[in-house]
Amino acid sequence: MLANYHTHTTFCDGKSTVEEVVLSALEKGFAAIGFSGHGYTPFDFTYCMKDTDGYLAEIRRVKEKYGKEIEIYAGVEEDASYPQPRGLFDYVLGSSHYFCVQKQYFPIDSSIECLNKCVSLYGGDTVRMAEDYYSSFCTYLNRYRPDVIGHFDLLTKFDEQSPRFLPDPAYRAVAKKYLLEAMRCGGIFEVNTGAISRGYRTMPYPHEELLHVLKKEGARVMLTSDSHHAGTLDCAFDEARAFLREIGFRTATVLYRGEFVEDTL
Ligand SMILES: [Zn+2]
Ligand SMILES: [Zn+2]
Repeated sequence: MLANYHTHTTFCDGKSTVEEVVLSALEKGFAAIGFSGHGYTPFDFTYCMKDTDGYLAEIRRVKEKYGKEIEIYAGVEEDASYPQPRGLFDYVLGSSHYFCVQKQYFPIDSSIECLNKCVSLYGGDTVRMAEDYYSSFCTYLNRYRPDVIGHFDLLTKFDEQSPRFLPDPAYRAVAKKYLLEAMRCGGIFEVNTGAISRGYRTMPYPHEELLHVLKKEGARVMLTSDSHHAGTLDCAFDEARAFLREIGFRTATVLYRGEFVEDTL
């Protein structure tokens, strides 16, 4: 079935309204759409939701209007540094966007410059940086147990333009070690095409090697577009499905009738 559960709107840093997204999903023949506004973070207002009540109310409104034609879910993409209250949302997608160094938060996915700044704070030691990133992400995952694990190796967002992590076997060993650690939280790993639609990458997160590990270990995966515009709800989904099938996956998880169930790829 066609669906996407990682969707941003004008309530955070997305470009389209909730209703525009629903209309686009309907036009594309989606069976379900899940919204995942960026959870509020007190240290960075540039991208997150400031009006969570308004967001939830607007989703309730469109659900009343279109709920017979499409399943609509009110989720949240919470940052690992600031977990959201449980019970407010239909599901929680947990992501790690920041490095916190000396009480300053650096959004590693905002630009190559910001990532480079972080690397320099680690004296260029990208392996130690990756250890810190993944170990704090895993601590959060195993403590707060979000339903879905967002873009696990976001750290590699700019690697196609500036290959800092993936070519290094020591980095890849760290990522693999913590992937296994993250699996303990029981969450569904998203296979996220968002950086493809924004022109940063040609492949989804997580990296192919990690997807092989997830397959071998029997983890569940969910295909998402991390869409920031109504037009990109299913960006690169066909390619990502074919890629997942090549790796050996036969199903992906969807949220349907209120349950996380497996759907044929
Ligand atoms: Zn994110
Ligand atoms: Zn997102």
